[in-house]
Amino acid sequence: MRKSLVSLTLLLVAATAFISCKSNKKADSDLPRVAIAGLAIESSTFSPAVTHAEAFRARRGEEVFSYYPFFSEDSTLIHEAQWLPTLRGHAMPGGIVTREAYETLVQETLERLEAVLPLDGLYFDIHGAMSVQGLDDPEGDFIVRIREVIGTDVVISTCMDLHGSVSPRLAQNTDLITCYRLAPHEDAIESKRRAVSNLLSRLKSGKGKPKYKAWIPVPILLAGEQTSTRIEPAKSLYGAIPALIDNDNMIDASIWMSYPWADEPRNHGVVVAYGDDKEAVGKAAEQLAAHFWNVREEFDFVAPTTTWNRALEQALASNVQPFIISDMGDNPTAGGAGDVTWTVTEVLNHPAFKKADSKSVIYASIPGKDFVAKAVELGVGAQIDGTAGAEVDDRLPHPFASKAKSQLLNIAKTAIK
Ligand SMILES: [Zn+2]
Repeated sequence: MRKSLVSLTLLLVAATAFISCKSNKKADSDLPRVAIAGLAIESSTFSPAVTHAEAFRARRGEEVFSYYPFFSEDSTLIHEAQWLPTLRGHAMPGGIVTREAYETLVQETLERLEAVLPLDGLYFDIHGAMSVQGLDDPEGDFIVRIREVIGTDVVISTCMDLHGSVSPRLAQNTDLITCYRLAPHEDAIESKRRAVSNLLSRLKSGKGKPKYKAWIPVPILLAGEQTSTRIEPAKSLYGAIPALIDNDNMIDASIWMSYPWADEPRNHGVVVAYGDDKEAVGKAAEQLAAHFWNVREEFDFVAPTTTWNRALEQALASNVQPFIISDMGDNPTAGGAGDVTWTVTEVLNHPAFKKADSKSVIYASIPGKDFVAKAVELGVGAQIDGTAGAEVDDRLPHPFASKAKSQLLNIAKTAIK
């Protein structure tokens, strides 16, 4: 009797386990299958630098989740789909991407996508200003190749930087596309979350792809320093978007400023809107495009701009401390090499800084790994002969030669690690 009771208990436990396993499986299979993929870089074709595959620091499989706070274990989004992360790479801004690096990363992404078919959705996370050797519109090329693998029925939701470019084929092959609404990009994660939430909402409701999409090119191309949304006219332009959104009728609208440091036909402003109401979508896109065009003359730099000599004259004549001069021509956050030595050479050669009682100047910064290594080796207070800079962009002057006293050695040690 006892034996049969034990057997019955075991049987019940086994049956419960079987049922719960099955019901979990059923619950899982009810959830949409959504892959994650993307390559992000802003690459200047005016820099002599080239970007290789390692620079993308690709995350693969489950590692991809770590990039997104909204995919943490205790988030709600992580439980709302069968997430199938493939490959996601994010490089610092830099020079043109080698064709080999692009092909290697794209090929691996396609293979990983093929391995997780069939899919209901894809979250495609890109920057939108990648330049690749011998290829126009890399993101457009990438999404077409993805479509060839996953098919045309899968709903693709794309998130981009507002300094990216949206070519017709990128717009055509993505169903939901959005970009940041703030520059500086304080809403980057919020925008990525919006792309994911809108995708899930369309998949879960069964509504799928929006019925209508409007893509309007706006023939304007501005430097990033002119597009801050902290000041007008970009503040009101981007600020007009939320009022246009109306659930499924008008799901989202976005404005791309594009990227001026790559000479490609796709590089110009674009407005995209989409939703299920034809009139609302058309009206929203036209309204934003007209607003963008009407304020085109009002975009200005966030600080006064002038030539080097005039900037220096003003700095020397000013009693304001510190007086900051920014060299926009070599901006590493927009793809510049960040090691051009022209400005530092001008500073060192200027008579105003040669006298013992002259004004002091801090130049930040010129990278020089060997220089720093030497400083660490010789110690605090040592005199160093060395050069720095112009390792990547050596088209102007030459590496900056210096006899410097080694100070701040702790910082140097940290930097070299
Ligand atoms: Zn940007």
